[in-house]
Amino acid sequence: MTPALADRLRPIEALILDVDGVLTDGTIIYSDAGQELQSFHVRDGSGLALWRRAGRKTAVISGRGGPALERRATELGLAPVFMRVKDKGQAVADAIAQLGLEPRSIAAVGDDLPDFPVFRAVGARFAVADACPEIRSAADVVLQARGGRGAVREAIEYVLKAQGTWQRWVDSY
Ligand SMILES: [Mg+2]
Repeated sequence: MTPALADRLRPIEALILDVDGVLTDGTIIYSDAGQELQSFHVRDGSGLALWRRAGRKTAVISGRGGPALERRATELGLAPVFMRVKDKGQAVADAIAQLGLEPRSIAAVGDDLPDFPVFRAVGARFAVADACPEIRSAADVVLQARGGRGAVREAIEYVLKAQGTWQRWVDSY
């Protein structure tokens, strides 16, 4: 990690996450029964649980939404959760107000063009490995992991390593 990146990540106290393509791999399965199925990665879950134990906050902003996301957000204590968002610029302003933090203390993880307003509003930006090229170019860090494959966990590791606490958390297990 470069010193400039470590400086940028050191103040981070909250994450703002996209869902489709970040917490999931972007696949949406439509069942014959009319349900939508999505899969979430267990290591993102354990990373977010650790993030919460570390006293950190997580907001979620999704252009879609549904019972699977609601359940996962409840399970992991993610809040606030903005679903069926048409304008992420407005949602990110609301999220920042609810988090009660300065933009420089917030990082975002995104994968696609609708995440640009979120990227512009925060202090640090992570792109998942399979993000669109424009989002990868705009990011401070392009993660090794793809969306839905541990990318959020990797972002959390980056932040806690920059803050010098990652090893302490590893040792706590
Ligand atoms: Mg997305």
